[in-house]
Amino acid sequence: MKAQQTAALPLERLARLENFGHSFGGSAWLYQPNQIEQLKHVFALARRQGLSVGLRGAGRSYGDAALNSGQIVLDLRALNRIRSWDPQHGRITVEPGVTIEQLWKTVLADGWWPPVVPGTMFPTIGGCLATNIHGKNNWQAGPLGEHVLEFEALLPTGKHVVCRPDKNVDLYYAMIGSMGLLGVFTSITLQLKQIESGNVEVKSWTEPSLPKIVAALEANKDSDYVVGWVDCTAPGNQLGRGQIHAARYLHAGEDPGAEDSLRVDAQVLPDRVLGLLPKRMLPALMSLFTNNLGARAVNLGKYLASRTIGNHKSYRQSLVAFNFLLDYIPEWERMYGRGGLIQYQSFLPQAAAADAYLDMLRYCKRAGLPSYLGVLKRHRPDKFLLSHAVDGYSLALDFRVTRSNAARIVKLANELDTMVLRAGGRFYFAKDITLDRKEVASFLGEKALQKFKALKRKADPDSLLQNDLYRRCFE
Ligand SMILES: Cc1cc2nc3c(=O)[nH]c(=O)nc-3n(C[C@H](O)[C@H](O)[C@H](O)COP(=O)(O)OP(=O)(O)OC[C@H]3O[C@@H](n4cnc5c(N)ncnc54)[C@H](O)[C@@H]3O)c2cc1C
Repeated sequence: MKAQQTAALPLERLARLENFGHSFGGSAWLYQPNQIEQLKHVFALARRQGLSVGLRGAGRSYGDAALNSGQIVLDLRALNRIRSWDPQHGRITVEPGVTIEQLWKTVLADGWWPPVVPGTMFPTIGGCLATNIHGKNNWQAGPLGEHVLEFEALLPTGKHVVCRPDKNVDLYYAMIGSMGLLGVFTSITLQLKQIESGNVEVKSWTEPSLPKIVAALEANKDSDYVVGWVDCTAPGNQLGRGQIHAARYLHAGEDPGAEDSLRVDAQVLPDRVLGLLPKRMLPALMSLFTNNLGARAVNLGKYLASRTIGNHKSYRQSLVAFNFLLDYIPEWERMYGRGGLIQYQSFLPQAAAADAYLDMLRYCKRAGLPSYLGVLKRHRPDKFLLSHAVDGYSLALDFRVTRSNAARIVKLANELDTMVLRAGGRFYFAKDITLDRKEVASFLGEKALQKFKALKRKADPDSLLQNDLYRRCFE
């Protein structure tokens, strides 16, 4: 971007923005349009000022994808109208700021559910499409992008495009998952999943080691969802033990209370823990355990409780409780304290996953930086240009960041990056905060990278759309 003029933007627009984990941040001039037409004005303003524009949904990315430090940020949450809903065919057209929460609340009573959701309902659909989110059903349902019938977007050139799997195909497969760097989604049409009940049937059980968790995920691929919790703090060869949750949708006639379960109020999460403690008090309480010793104690307690009281249980749970359990505790991430947290998620091919992940967990422990929470998922590859998915697994690891460990955490993540690349793995831009250009080129492959750059030159010849991630990984 070349500055045309140096006049400053209004000071009152200057805002400090952070990643979801509050571990990184920067100031930017914040614009919050509530009409699609206003986007062009912000693009024109940025050009006049010689600034770049970063897009932001609900700011729930763990990395720096929704930050554009020292530049302009377009917060798209106010573009949140549902344009049309066809309950007969389960097709919905939304503006990009509509959240996953707004979506399920609109469609549930008609017997539909978003086919792919993240572990929280607060992100926007625009943000979820820009990262091409995956759920606990990724090997079954693919990423969100596979359920998009059509999207409309505004490119920085001012061109308005309509993309479908059979129209503007290159842009369709590139824009989905390209972190808001090619254009702004202005309208998204999704095909939803028909359901017969607002509940799922869940089975849970423990596994004594990481290879056994991997094997259990493999053996339960006929479930609709499966996910493994991994204890990354356990001693010796118990490291990587954990618990599996496998769930399936209920068929017609299986749930006598199906009609009631499809009501929004039947899905609402309770306000108190065990009927006693107000849930807003939990982050402060949990912060007492966000240290190496505390996390080890909590993980041990959770594993023992799951192995005894909760082992090999089947039960019914609402779709919201199963998918968005973390939302139960408002601002749970605050338990990580002032330095916040990062999440390190890597994707490994099936054959390499169990051994490489165990090596990574051992490495973290040896460095004195065990992850306090590990989550393992099953994936399948997809056709999107900047895809993170593989035929294999992902392990997401939460790390507490403090003033004294920040540099060591970055060094640890760099070492893990090398291990992942050596094992033929990939990364997810919604979570990443440490990759550099060489590593990105290595996992995406030169062909995909060059194709992305060529599309960027065409859709955005002046590099108007940028964010901190772009400057770190692509520029
Ligand atoms: C507790 C928690 C659990 C999570 N679980 C999962 C999970 O299970 N699976 C998963 O895949 N992810 C998961 N995530 C990550 C999250 O789903 C993604 O980061 C998602 O992109 C967040 O959406 P957002 O609206 O907050 O977008 P933001 O974080 O604000 O932005 C993300 C990207 O989208 C771009 N963008 C935003 N709006 C538009 C638009 N209209 N047009 C073009 N680009 C746009 C931004 O530039 C940015 O690059 C989780 C996050 C949290 C906090």
